[in-house]
Amino acid sequence: MNISPGNIVILGAAESGLGAAILANKMGWSVLVSDNAVISEENKNKLDDIGVNWEELGHSYCDFENTDLVVKSPGIPDNVSVVEYFTKRSIKVVSEIEFAGYYNKAKTICITGSNGKTTTAKWTYSILKNAGFKVGLAGNVGDSFAKQVAESDYEWYVLEISSFQLDGMFDFCADISILTNITPDHLDRYNNSIENYIKSKFKILQNQTKKHWFIYNEDDKRIRSHLQEMNLKMSVASFSLEKKVMGGYIDKKEIIININTQFNMSIHELALKGKHNTQNALAAGVAARVLEIRKEVVRESLQNFNNLEHRLEMVAKINGIEFINDSKATNINSTWYALESMDKPTVWIVGGEDKGNDYCDLKDLVKEKVKAIICLGVNNEKIIESFSEDYPEIIEVDSAHRAVMQAYKIASKNETVLLSPACASFDLFESYEDRGNQFKKAVRAL
Ligand code: ADP
Repeated sequence: MNISPGNIVILGAAESGLGAAILANKMGWSVLVSDNAVISEENKNKLDDIGVNWEELGHSYCDFENTDLVVKSPGIPDNVSVVEYFTKRSIKVVSEIEFAGYYNKAKTICITGSNGKTTTAKWTYSILKNAGFKVGLAGNVGDSFAKQVAESDYEWYVLEISSFQLDGMFDFCADISILTNITPDHLDRYNNSIENYIKSKFKILQNQTKKHWFIYNEDDKRIRSHLQEMNLKMSVASFSLEKKVMGGYIDKKEIIININTQFNMSIHELALKGKHNTQNALAAGVAARVLEIRKEVVRESLQNFNNLEHRLEMVAKINGIEFINDSKATNINSTWYALESMDKPTVWIVGGEDKGNDYCDLKDLVKEKVKAIICLGVNNEKIIESFSEDYPEIIEVDSAHRAVMQAYKIASKNETVLLSPACASFDLFESYEDRGNQFKKAVRAL
């Protein structure tokens, strides 16, 4: 893509904004970084070091007049006045991934979906790295894509891409795209329309032609039905836990990948447990076999992969009680998979900021797996209402410490305490990481 530098405004000065500023500055743009909140001291210093102008606690519209291009942080919705200022004037507003794509020369594996993005991205990255590829990991994980394009010299990138990033992507084209699943999430940003959210996720395929690949979850009915309306031009593979497909599937507890020559290994050898992680392993494995990575490397990489923090993370076993931190489960679907993978009676810590949850989908599973429920949130009414028939004594707490103390009282030897909130964390915590860390600290203090 040919783009000549002019005046660029970067909205938001966190990880992606800082990266975009570094790249834009290097490529000769005249840069203004503008944030309506306070910019961290660290990022201000970094911007000062490279001589980039910045403003915080609001936007000075008079400096926006000659803007040629805007890069918007994925956290800023489209309907806020500063974004509308530019769109009304037909000034292009793009995401940081799109902007970095203008200058990126490496090939990309791009992963999106409602859940499993980080796990699949990191697993794919680790296979490519073990295979000796010069590969970077970016997007929602690690250093921003733009910063790495400015400063590194990779031949491949594995990118984790959220729907908010996709909304600001137009000319970008993934060499290999992966769609893990689509379940309702973030609908507040999509006019409460699942259709809008699905369309946004499918932008991962935009601009792909027959030299590119698309890998998707064949078991996901929303993906399947949307695909029926599409005329796909790229090479396609899928993965499934339920049926034999062209791509990766399970047959008698064996993973089979039938891209190029056949690859197989037992699902019991996988480094991460749970059906959801088998799906993630299939997605990563199919991508690796598309790239013709040697079977031994794929097998070893699927066997040896470290548990990720806050995602079904085993914290400790205390007096025979296992404590698991799944704080990153911020929607119903991810909690469903967490509960599904529990093989012992479970004390379930749930709750937080509700994003429009319907707990009906969890009812049967909860009844089967859960011994007691502890609500960790400010407003727990909906959870109590949904489960009180089967659990008349739901406990409410307002700190991770109290949740752990209560759970420890209720759980017995050979049982599990699972923090899998199905909700965002912002009512009581700074972030899901903060929630998970406080949980772990309380467990370790027992
Ligand atoms: P994302 O980056 O899409 O948020 P993560 O890999 O960080 O996904 O996982 C988020 C949560 O979802 C964790 O609780 C994790 O255990 C669960 N999870 C991981 N993979 C999947 C999947 N394929 N389907 C459903 N839930 C998943």
